[in-house]
Amino acid sequence: MIIRKTPAELEKMRASGLLVHSILAELAGMVQEGVTTMDLEVAAEKMIRDAGARPAFKGYYVPAVGQRFGFVLCTSVNDEIVHGLPSTKVELRKGDIVSIDTGVELNGWFGDSATTVPVGEPEPKVKRLLDVTKESLERAIEQVRAGNRLFDICAAVENHVRANGFSIVKEYVGHGIGTQLHEEPQVPNYIDRRNDNPRLKEGMVFAIEPMVNAGAGDSKLKPDRWTAVAKDGSYSAHFEHCVAVTADGPWVLTRP
Ligand code: MG
Ligand code: MG
Repeated sequence: MIIRKTPAELEKMRASGLLVHSILAELAGMVQEGVTTMDLEVAAEKMIRDAGARPAFKGYYVPAVGQRFGFVLCTSVNDEIVHGLPSTKVELRKGDIVSIDTGVELNGWFGDSATTVPVGEPEPKVKRLLDVTKESLERAIEQVRAGNRLFDICAAVENHVRANGFSIVKEYVGHGIGTQLHEEPQVPNYIDRRNDNPRLKEGMVFAIEPMVNAGAGDSKLKPDRWTAVAKDGSYSAHFEHCVAVTADGPWVLTRP
């Protein structure tokens, strides 16, 4: 069942979303050569606590891993797709890209967003990967309208990514969000015909999060059992926003 939110509840999700936005904006500004992903983690945790919120990821139990996640951020560098672990040993260098993904719970409501930031000026092909992934998210956001169907969101990402010669990562998907970090439905970045294709209704909220590889879409897990990485070692980009269906069209809760 997809839980629909009232306008008052959406306002609460908006507060969570704006907090996530401000954290990611701050972290993106910190990204430069020599910064470690643990530096980002430490700064993020302070911002979350100072705002009176709770980190959504830290302590989150993932049955597939059989462990709780240990950090407030996922930091995924270069060929890492998602769920990378912040570390004092991972120092960013010129030419790297880092996906920063975080979530918060504020007054019982969740926000979740991700961005991918280049370290220094990216090479043209890397810039194109970032642009295409971001554009695919924007196209998906445009589909978040009452009367459309879930597959309209999925297809918007898939079509744009394929048309530009990049690959969708299929193993990891977006999701509904509200009083839980992960609610129904799953929101894949491609049309998965094994899933239902419900009609979108006012009050539904989706965390849409294209994960796009420059090479093939295949992924594998690193020995840490959390970090998903592109099998062929190609760069991978990740952007995410929470988007509500409203009478006025899509409302992106995780940006001003
Ligand atoms: Mg998410
Ligand atoms: Mg996220």
